[in-house]
Amino acid sequence: MSTTNSSSVAASNVGVFSLKDFLSSLMLRELFKGLALTGKYTFRSKITLEYPEEKTPLSPRFRGLHALRRYDNGEERCIACKLCEAVCPAMAITIESDVRDDGSRRTTRYDIDYNKCIYCGFCEESCPVDSIVETSIFEYHGEAPGDLYFTKDMLLAVGDRYEDQIAAARAADAKFR
Ligand code: SF4
Ligand code: SF4
Repeated sequence: MSTTNSSSVAASNVGVFSLKDFLSSLMLRELFKGLALTGKYTFRSKITLEYPEEKTPLSPRFRGLHALRRYDNGEERCIACKLCEAVCPAMAITIESDVRDDGSRRTTRYDIDYNKCIYCGFCEESCPVDSIVETSIFEYHGEAPGDLYFTKDMLLAVGDRYEDQIAAARAADAKFR
């Protein structure tokens, strides 16, 4: 007996809610709510930007394209310790090294495969000489898999070209490191 009563109550609740939804839909309530929201923001200052002409500010910690840096005298910073290669979780870095005539060790090969890189920044954090860094450059692409395989020369070229930007970003973040 009680089962029958609860079933009929549930059925009548369903009927009430359906009627409410029906009336709401008939009066275009959702449509007017949407129009009201649009109207509210129509005359406010715009928060969208016309990319790529306009760009949002980037943090000095932004992790974009990598660069290999040099010292002011032009010498490569990298000492081929391979810490970055060891720490890379994506195994995107490949290093080979040799010892020079003056006894210093330098890389003969330093490649980053951007098909694997997850931009975690571990390589940058692990480097004892601030050699491998991530720049704020994010506008690059490849059309074939090989296009995203960056060699040592390419990474050094990025470093040479953007050293001022890299140094400024690191100086801005220095007190937090
Ligand atoms: S950013 Fe991360 S995934 Fe990319 S090369 Fe560096 S350590 Fe590897
Ligand atoms: S980039 Fe830095 S961490 Fe990587 S091998 Fe060179 S010195 Fe070592």
